[in-house]
Amino acid sequence: MTSGQSWPSWLPLNPNLRDLSPYGAPQIKDVVALNTNENPYKLPGDVVSAMSAKIAAILPDLNRYPDRDALKLRNGLAGYINSLSGTLLDGENVWVANGSNEILQSLFLAFGSGGAIGFTPSYSVHPLIARSTSVRWVAGTRDDDFTLDPKKAIEQIHNSDQVPSLIFITTPNNPTGNALSLSDIEVIVGECPTSLVIIDEAYAEFSREKSAVTLLNDHKNLLVVRTMSKAFALAGARVGYLLADPIIVSALGLVRLPYHMSTLTQTVALAALEFNEELQAEVKLLKSERERVLKALRALGLRVYPSDANFLLFTGFQPSSHDFWERILAKGVLIRDVGLSGTLRVTIGTPEENERFLSVIKEVLDESA
Ligand code: PMP
Repeated sequence: MTSGQSWPSWLPLNPNLRDLSPYGAPQIKDVVALNTNENPYKLPGDVVSAMSAKIAAILPDLNRYPDRDALKLRNGLAGYINSLSGTLLDGENVWVANGSNEILQSLFLAFGSGGAIGFTPSYSVHPLIARSTSVRWVAGTRDDDFTLDPKKAIEQIHNSDQVPSLIFITTPNNPTGNALSLSDIEVIVGECPTSLVIIDEAYAEFSREKSAVTLLNDHKNLLVVRTMSKAFALAGARVGYLLADPIIVSALGLVRLPYHMSTLTQTVALAALEFNEELQAEVKLLKSERERVLKALRALGLRVYPSDANFLLFTGFQPSSHDFWERILAKGVLIRDVGLSGTLRVTIGTPEENERFLSVIKEVLDESA
């Protein structure tokens, strides 16, 4: 089912899903793919060898269900976060799932009956999951430059019919790239004690701001969602995780499917953690490429929003986002039309991919001048 088509009337589809089509960023072959904020670097050979050996060792045991509570992996992730942020978290503070999208879905399932709010433009999957889990969604707003003023956020939270049980804040925000300061987060969390405030930190490793995990000790209603998809270059393995008070982690056990994390996934994720430093060596390079591409786009006369993530949102081109996007795609580079009029988003790739993007965008700009 693609957008524009409607579902047949004989299908007993849930009414809340009738006017939806499945999520689908294009997956096109043989292009420079800078559209889904993946890490452009393949896993290094030594990491691949270590993972292969570990997978080979567990293959005979696939007759058995996996460790249902994924304790070893949760302990490993706690150790990783502690090493970055100086926290003292342990496995009981961590929940894992197949990508942070699954973590988000579990949060909606377990805590969504009081409704949820997010501040648009932001991660489009939050309201999508609200729809599929029948959770009332309030689309809050940001300022025109996409910053989130904590006072205005709090006003919107308290102005909705009923204070939502879930408050979503994405920082660095997707698709705009800007990060919210820890002090602003703390203001919102402190003013909303009856809600769970979920900080979606999918791009935290690329940010100049500190992680909100450092606030966990002081705020039981704060939750931080992270992923191995970006900084660990592990999008294909599907590993996301949550850092929160142990009681929240226990409650998620009520909605997770039994044995949801396969032994293969747990093994790969644990191996990746062992190679954390090597895998994340590229994060530094991607950050410096982000600044280089930002300057180059500005030099072409485009307006680029400040970014603490591995992508940039830009504006200032003609004609529409969709036409400009198509012209870039016709030259072999796939970026993202995020549905924000007059803007497009590009993921930071390898230096070669970025060069290709910059030369293509210059050509398209010259052609439309
Ligand atoms: N949160 C945000 C803000 C994202 O941009 C993404 C991926 N694009 C996700 C969560 C989901 O990531 P994953 O399911 O790969 O962990």
